[in-house]
Amino acid sequence: RLELCDIRKSFGTTQVLQGIDLTIEPGQMICLIGASGSGKSTLLRCMNLLEPVDDGRILLDGDDISEPGRDPQPVRQRIGMVFQSFNLFPHMTAAENVMLAPRRIKGLSRAALAPTVSALFDRFGLGQHMQHYPDQLSGGQQQRVAIIRALAMNPEIMLFDEITSALDPELVGEVLDVLRSLRDEGMTMVLATHEMNFARELADTVCFLDQGRICEAGPPAQIFNDPQQPRTRAFLSRVL
Ligand code: ATP
Ligand code: MG
Repeated sequence: RLELCDIRKSFGTTQVLQGIDLTIEPGQMICLIGASGSGKSTLLRCMNLLEPVDDGRILLDGDDISEPGRDPQPVRQRIGMVFQSFNLFPHMTAAENVMLAPRRIKGLSRAALAPTVSALFDRFGLGQHMQHYPDQLSGGQQQRVAIIRALAMNPEIMLFDEITSALDPELVGEVLDVLRSLRDEGMTMVLATHEMNFARELADTVCFLDQGRICEAGPPAQIFNDPQQPRTRAFLSRVL
């Protein structure tokens, strides 16, 4: 369970997050929507301590992980993140990319990791591609490898930042299938997305961010069919 309490963050004089309160319960999928610059990526980055918060608290199972000076590494093992750019190492095979962090950080051997890693590649339709290098894979395949890489650390929560934005439209579906599968197995997930149809189909809660605040949050049926806030209505009329 991840609780954000009054999170505030500025870059210079720009207040990017202006008091975010959000609780993510185990097994929930939360979608963050909102205009470019509304703070979605910054909020995700604060959640796994890639950015320090200026004020407010982040509680992971009741434990304050936002205290200054706290080692972010154990938190990042528990909260995995996948980005728009897949960031795979080009000189390593897909399997080596996936095994790197568990080997270095958890000290596991390739042999110990092999069964889990093969199972993940098989599960997401990449069993034939484990020994391929990133430039031998399509964008959708590379993004699935990036997701597998995060899953290989066995995180409790997964954060996804616009993971389909860099993909050709015909490759988006295969990445969304991965998210659908993770959701069905009960993974806790927070997703920043421009894919409104996906938020509508799978999110438990949709949060509409506007200028660093959660302007409106609720089940997708409410946010998309009956938004209460004028700013939510204006945003949706632009993007739907
Ligand atoms: P998009 O939909 O385009 O991805 P977003 O909702 O993810 O947008 P953020 O990337 O969180 O928005 O950015 C929010 C604001 O913070 C923007 O005004 C951005 O310019 C600013 N910002 C983000 N990161 C930094 C940084 N490292 N230094 C300075 N300003 C930043
Ligand atoms: Mg962003």
